[in-house]
Amino acid sequence: MPGTELFGAEEKKEIADVLETGILFRYNHDAQRNGIWKAKDFEAEVRKITGAKYAHAVSSGSTAVAAALAAAGIGAGDEVIVPPFTYIATVEAVLFIGALPVFAEIDETLCLSAEGIRKAITPKTKAVCLVHMCGGMAEMDSIMQVVYENNLILVEDAGQAFAASYKGTATGLFGKAGSYSFDFFKIATAGEGGVLVTNDEQVYKNADSYCDHGHDHIGNNRGMEQHPILGFNYRISELHAAVGVAQTRKVPHIREANNKLKKMLVDILSQTEGISFATLADPSGDSATFLNILLPDTEAAKRTVAEFNEAGVTGFNYWYTNMYHFINQWDHIKEMRTASKLPIQILGAPQDYANLDLPKSQEVVGRLISFGIRCTWTEEEVKQLAAKISDCVKKALVTAHA
Ligand SMILES: *Cc1c(COP(=O)(O)O)cnc(C)c1O
Repeated sequence: MPGTELFGAEEKKEIADVLETGILFRYNHDAQRNGIWKAKDFEAEVRKITGAKYAHAVSSGSTAVAAALAAAGIGAGDEVIVPPFTYIATVEAVLFIGALPVFAEIDETLCLSAEGIRKAITPKTKAVCLVHMCGGMAEMDSIMQVVYENNLILVEDAGQAFAASYKGTATGLFGKAGSYSFDFFKIATAGEGGVLVTNDEQVYKNADSYCDHGHDHIGNNRGMEQHPILGFNYRISELHAAVGVAQTRKVPHIREANNKLKKMLVDILSQTEGISFATLADPSGDSATFLNILLPDTEAAKRTVAEFNEAGVTGFNYWYTNMYHFINQWDHIKEMRTASKLPIQILGAPQDYANLDLPKSQEVVGRLISFGIRCTWTEEEVKQLAAKISDCVKKALVTAHA
């Protein structure tokens, strides 16, 4: 959680600017705010890092995904291809805009594969909601080819991949719209917050209105603004945006530190038999928030987790059994348990969610253990961690094959 590790004077200064004016709302009140516009500044910082033409800050990464989908023109009854390995917010966002999720296979990039997408396409497929997982990126050349060939809309949930890129283009900028999360666990945090990015002016205008009850934000009399479209309140507060400004400015440093520390870990661990790593479609674009280890099989990974627990190794995620990131634990999604009725319960589900056949995703996530990289680690700490990981894997592989 590098962003939270570096919370300090810069964040406090940005927050103090807002408290000084008392204007916690991102729109209007031009006279009282003394030139303080933190949501706009936050958006400018995100444009600077990503190269996006347009950025719109919102209340969370989850609302950013929903807004990206809606602004890109996806809605009721549209089938949207999603991965079974993601933070659950991706699937929720698809459902909450009235669309129907269709799960497809991931591969060793930890993201949807072109082949997985191709197999999941039906005549009703409108879009792909690609998720760049664990700090890395999907194999974009082959994915863009499937997207073009089948005339699909691409939206990218880059919630975990802010500041990652593929062949020079930031994750989030390959499709019609993309989103980042700035929650407590991401490379930079706003406390709570998200940012939608796009290079398409109309998509940006849609998002800008959609996230604030459809307001067109023309003029400076809020009560007299026009409403080109329906929307809802996905606004970010100036206080959260202020934290986002200071944190985003730290991201180039965090990315560099993460990459250096991750390289040390990879260099050491490559020498341990049985350890391989998730595929980075473009290693130079890694945000390096996670070290993603692949064990030979699920059994070996489970034994490794047991060895970690025994040895007191912490700071890792075994997503296969974690409640939020993999479809095996999403009983409420499989059964579509809701407090009220969703469009999917009227239109019908495009897949039997309780009995999905996704052997490749099961295999990859079963083998995967991810360590969060801390940008404040010392070289000594990294060496000690690598030695412990290596030890535990060796023991696990002996018992796994005993
Ligand atoms: C964190 C995350 C989200 C949700 O972001 P919040 O800011 O917590 O709402 C969405 N998608 C992915 C892939 C994430 O990792």
